[in-house]
Amino acid sequence: MASTIGLDLGNVPSLDLMTELLRRMKCSSKPDKRLILVGPPGSGKGTQSPFIKDEYCLCHLATGDMLRAAVSAKTPLGIKAKEAMDKGELVSDDLVVGIIDEAIKKPSCQKGFILDGFPRTVVQAQKLDEMLEKQGTKIDKVLDFAIDDAILEERITGRWMHPASGRSYHTKFAPPKVPGIDDVTGEPLIQRKDDNAEVLKSRLEAFHRQTQPVIDYYVQKGIVNKLHADKPAKEVAAEIQKALS
Ligand code: ADP
Ligand code: AMP
Repeated sequence: MASTIGLDLGNVPSLDLMTELLRRMKCSSKPDKRLILVGPPGSGKGTQSPFIKDEYCLCHLATGDMLRAAVSAKTPLGIKAKEAMDKGELVSDDLVVGIIDEAIKKPSCQKGFILDGFPRTVVQAQKLDEMLEKQGTKIDKVLDFAIDDAILEERITGRWMHPASGRSYHTKFAPPKVPGIDDVTGEPLIQRKDDNAEVLKSRLEAFHRQTQPVIDYYVQKGIVNKLHADKPAKEVAAEIQKALS
């Protein structure tokens, strides 16, 4: 059986088809959700996103992951973003707003989305509101990953990533089954160039100066849930489940 988009379903294994069918049936009964995860680098946004994504059938849009992919592919966007990223500064609002504007229209975001690392400035938040207003939608909830700066150096310097999926591990808190290897694909893990104590200082400075006002922007709209992001990952996941139910 050949579909109009050129995918030969006859070659897709039955188990994969059944799994996808069951996923779609489960998703059809879920309410739409448009979420923002906000917090400093290392607060656990990327760790918690896959659970929320699977539970509510959302797409996960992490601007940091998208920008890193553009940098490694040396696209015009990546070339423009690289210098600021290496220094731990924010890239320009126009660059990231453009990425998100395009991404939220994708079919995988039909039931809603998790924005991870966006918006990071009040201008980005305002532009996002404008985008959503055009679609007749709005942000439902903002999860604030509240955590003390002092905890973040150990989290950031011990982090290992699987670049293709954005999965993160930690040498002490979330080690992979085999050191240096992704549990799911068996591919090598990497350490991010900006995951060091020196660049972390600039990233935290950018968070407090430019992103903290974003949290205040959404507090005024009454849609922020504050999490204890310093707790173990399972406890944070339970807090999120409660906040979203
Ligand atoms: P973010 O996406 O907010 O930058 P991550 O989810 O990548 O942060 O987490 C940063 C590092 O801390 C990772 O190495 C991750 O495994 C680890 N980590 C995440 N949540 C916790 C937690 N609650 N307790 C301890 N370590 C955590
Ligand atoms: P992250 O993976 O979220 O830690 O982001 C890595 C880097 O990408 C940041 O230090 C910024 O340079 C850049 N970046 C990611 N998201 C944004 C954003 N919304 N606005 C500006 N810069 C961003």
